[in-house]
Amino acid sequence: MRLKSLEILGFKSFANKTIFSFPANVTAIVGPNGSGKSNVVDAIRWVLGERDLKSLRVGRSDEIIFGGTPNRSRMSLAQVSIVLDNSEGKLPVDFKEIVVTRKVNRDSEAEYLINQSNVRLKDVVELLAKAKVGNQGLTIINQGSADAILKASPRERRSMIEESLGLRE
Ligand code: ATP
Repeated sequence: MRLKSLEILGFKSFANKTIFSFPANVTAIVGPNGSGKSNVVDAIRWVLGERDLKSLRVGRSDEIIFGGTPNRSRMSLAQVSIVLDNSEGKLPVDFKEIVVTRKVNRDSEAEYLINQSNVRLKDVVELLAKAKVGNQGLTIINQGSADAILKASPRERRSMIEESLGLRE
């Protein structure tokens, strides 16, 4: 299933609404050190339901919200949407395009939406599991973790294989 686009607002360094369109396969995003390349990956991880702070490279959950700069005040809302192409019907829903959104305010619980309808995290995880996408397997390979599958314990390896086979559900 193809990643069509990613929309980020108020997440980490993305104070301005930023839309990444992926009309074709993308090999790399390049930019100077510290320019926010890994924050793009963090945004994908977060919208897919990641709750582990270490994986998101923060110490506290509110650190994922834009924290301000000397010229710009901090924001209270972080929102990320990922648009997946379902034109081949790989996911058993009647939508050609699936938009998963996660948003959080500094003073409220996170909200999840699938195609604009409020859902539970469980619904997002279950839907993505059908597409063999998740946070336990090899959907995202972190910088420095290319050897993760070699280093994994039998339990972790089982989890990766189950996710890749679409068995997590
Ligand atoms: P490198 O090439 O060094 O790996 P990178 O391009 O991947 O860097 P990131 O790690 O994605 O960069 O981004 C780091 C930047 O994001 C830093 O400038 C940091 O201050 C900024 N940043 C992270 N969280 C926030 C936040 N909550 N609010 C504002 N800026 C943030």
